[in-house]
Amino acid sequence: MLSAEFWEEQYRKLFEVLARNSAKAARAGLKDGAEQLGIEIDFSLLNEYVVAWVQANCAEVARTITKTSMDAFIGKYEEWATQGAPLRSLIKELKENYGHKAKVIAVTETTRAFAYGNLAVFRHEGVEAIRWNTAEDELVCEICAPLAGTTAAMSVGFPEGIVAPPAHPNCRCWITPVIPEREAISGEELEAEELAIEEN
Ligand SMILES: [Zn+2]
Repeated sequence: MLSAEFWEEQYRKLFEVLARNSAKAARAGLKDGAEQLGIEIDFSLLNEYVVAWVQANCAEVARTITKTSMDAFIGKYEEWATQGAPLRSLIKELKENYGHKAKVIAVTETTRAFAYGNLAVFRHEGVEAIRWNTAEDELVCEICAPLAGTTAAMSVGFPEGIVAPPAHPNCRCWITPVIPEREAISGEELEAEELAIEEN
């Protein structure tokens, strides 16, 4: 049976990979959020805030995965030991199981960190409402399809207590800010405004 040190090491490695990936996604979310608002912001302040969240979130995710893996492994190991099946069948099964799970976790946590970066900028800039955007293949998802294109007040969130993507494992949705002034202006007015800016 595998030792406590083995699982501790698994946890540490998993945390490192997750934290590196999530920090990258959160930074991309910050940059994207600023671009969507058309503003320049000092990221040093928000970055610190986002990194603190990344550390806490990834520690929790890594702990849950390690615990689940440990339980699953022990279950499989016991099954294998009592059935007397060859070791390679156990290894094959574990690999298939975790290979798939790892992909799901990577997608879900990237979506979460990116949205968190977006939210950090939107909150900082006083954005009041956000819109849910869905990848085309998620239009058939029974959780995300009804959310697609809907808007929510930042302070309230979307139905079912959903604050931002991910709404479920493997969710690849994203948010955009709802900017009332800009949406209310007609295309012609916007063009005239852009021309005026260019002339200045
Ligand atoms: Zn989704």
